[in-house]
Amino acid sequence: MVIKPRVRGFICTTAHPVGCAREVERQAEVARRRGLPAGPKAALVVGSSMGYGLSSRITAAFGCGAGTLGVFLERPGSEKRTATAGWYNSAAFHRLARESGLWAEGLDGDAFSPEVKQQAVERVRDGLGQVDLVIYSLAAPRRTLADGTVAKSALKPIGETYRNKTLDVESGVVSEVAIEPADHQEIADTVKVMGGEDWQLWVDALEEGGVLAADATTVAYSYIGPELTHSIYRHGTIGRAKDHLEATARRLDERLRRRGGRALVSVNKAVVTQSSSAIPVVPLYISLLFEVMKEKGLHEGCIEQMVRLFGERLYAGGEVALDAEGRIRLDDLEMRADVQSEVQRRWREVASGTISGLADLDGYRSDFLRLFGFAVDGVDYAADVDPVVPLEG
Ligand code: NAD
Repeated sequence: MVIKPRVRGFICTTAHPVGCAREVERQAEVARRRGLPAGPKAALVVGSSMGYGLSSRITAAFGCGAGTLGVFLERPGSEKRTATAGWYNSAAFHRLARESGLWAEGLDGDAFSPEVKQQAVERVRDGLGQVDLVIYSLAAPRRTLADGTVAKSALKPIGETYRNKTLDVESGVVSEVAIEPADHQEIADTVKVMGGEDWQLWVDALEEGGVLAADATTVAYSYIGPELTHSIYRHGTIGRAKDHLEATARRLDERLRRRGGRALVSVNKAVVTQSSSAIPVVPLYISLLFEVMKEKGLHEGCIEQMVRLFGERLYAGGEVALDAEGRIRLDDLEMRADVQSEVQRRWREVASGTISGLADLDGYRSDFLRLFGFAVDGVDYAADVDPVVPLEG
């Protein structure tokens, strides 16, 4: 099959196995070059096939030499249809890890379900004994609850309608968007999906199963961002979920510290992922931010962030530097006053006619395509490739 990108709004319905593999190899090389000898020995990464979870897994494996179990929800390929990008990423990761002599297995299933948690406990017990790092990096649109009902996560403001500029990435058109506020049910459902409850259930299952090392670290990811996105992000439905996630970290940390472990939240920078591209207004902010950060030589993607998280925060030795709310701040460069004031200035000016001079629209578009294995240097996109790739690499 000759595979081309098929973009529909903020999703690409095809993925390229060779491009995805190259991108995993590139990230592995970044992690290897950094080399982080004091890191974890065995890691479980929940949400390990894309974005921050994938880069966390790559850093644990190729930066620290850890064995890893990855949990994700992806679709395999068939003769007629490509697999999802996360499937190809995971297959490439498994192959590379094995070639490097590292233990690596993947569990494709619904991470919210008790059955998948139990399967993960058994896989850890059989393959790794225990895990000393648990990364929780799920970004999910919905969660099936124990009674069979489905909670859906919403990306809406709370209280009043939010009006601001937004970007159609494909056409480059900047327009005004108005987003109606969420109702109580939507707020509660978003907290169910993206809050800390399921993270805690994972830690409970691992502890009860006897596979959580006494000194284990667990980390989940959060975001804050600038004031101009607060109404849709930090003060919106997803922000309520992040408040809940951060409160869960504080409770879990108290509990794990008693046995020598720790639970932390890392506030990461805005990057192009499948999840962030679905949030209204955010792609415009990211494309302005990228231009400003690239001009200042401060730009980072997922892998650079994760290498910094492991090397300069989690495993740097000594106490981890935290903000007043007890969070790791990897968004320090994004939130720097000079970066933010320049983004704000550009935000006021940006329109369809001015965007190419103010924002890194091309960078956004190629990052987006790269998520699905397209626009990767050195890949022959005219070549016939087999879309069926075994998960175990
Ligand atoms: P992503 O969309 O790139 O990846 C999500 C992962 O979750 C994938 O591996 C997917 O397979 C998995 N997943 C989704 N539903 C699942 C399910 N039911 N069962 C098993 N696996 C499932 O996401 P991302 O943007 O990397 O986000 C990860 C975390 O980082 C989130 O908490 C997000 O809020 C946070 N974060 C993201 C950004 C950003 O700019 N993207 C910034 C700061 C923090």
